Amino acid sequence: MTPPPDAPDPALIDDLVAANHILYNEGVVDGFGHVSARHDKEPGGFLLARNMAPGLVTSDDILVLDLDGNAVAAGGRALYLERFIHSEIYKARPDVAAIVHSHSPSVIPFGATAVALRPIYHMSGFLGAGAPVFEIREAGGEATDMLIRSPALGAALARRLGGAAVALMRGHGDVVVAESLKLAVFRAIYTEINARLQAEALLLGQGRVSFLNEKEAAAASATNTPQVGRAWELWKRNAMGGL
Ligand code: MN
Repeated sequence: MTPPPDAPDPALIDDLVAANHILYNEGVVDGFGHVSARHDKEPGGFLLARNMAPGLVTSDDILVLDLDGNAVAAGGRALYLERFIHSEIYKARPDVAAIVHSHSPSVIPFGATAVALRPIYHMSGFLGAGAPVFEIREAGGEATDMLIRSPALGAALARRLGGAAVALMRGHGDVVVAESLKLAVFRAIYTEINARLQAEALLLGQGRVSFLNEKEAAAASATNTPQVGRAWELWKRNAMGGL
């Protein structure tokens, strides 16, 4: 049977399932966090799992949502509370094709201190001049539960992200974007690794660390971008076996 013309590419759904498993296996997400991909045929829509642990997602769990954060056919299934992270960033950034939101553990200290997350090595050149930090109190007041649970909070986060690849969320986690799903997964994994290495270097160097400058970061990022498939295949096999 021929699928309707607006059905997403089955290969994109398969990749999104793999992305969920990879991010779990690599320690970026745990029972929480999510990854989405913009709909390949409807730029006003995106694919996101129903409300569940990423490591358990199958193709049957992938829903299509619109840019207001409504599911096209949820069939009674619960949605992620923080789906507005995705809907509002897709709205603000036409260049973005995939988004990862996580509570990536090594990143948390950088959102809670004045120390900027910066590229310590070539694998994380996408961090550029440093990741901006979103302060939810500025948009949501002093008594939120820290979650991006409304379109207004999602829009505020998207504004703080600006044109960057990564934004940290104070007291919560981070959001990572890219022009492809594989690149978003790559960036989310190396954001976590960079944070761990940067914290070690700050201790070892007693606060004095040489980071990539902006030109080095941009050049390293340009070199890595076309090579992400190499890492993806390894991560996918490790997360999903021979599937
Ligand atoms: Mn969250």
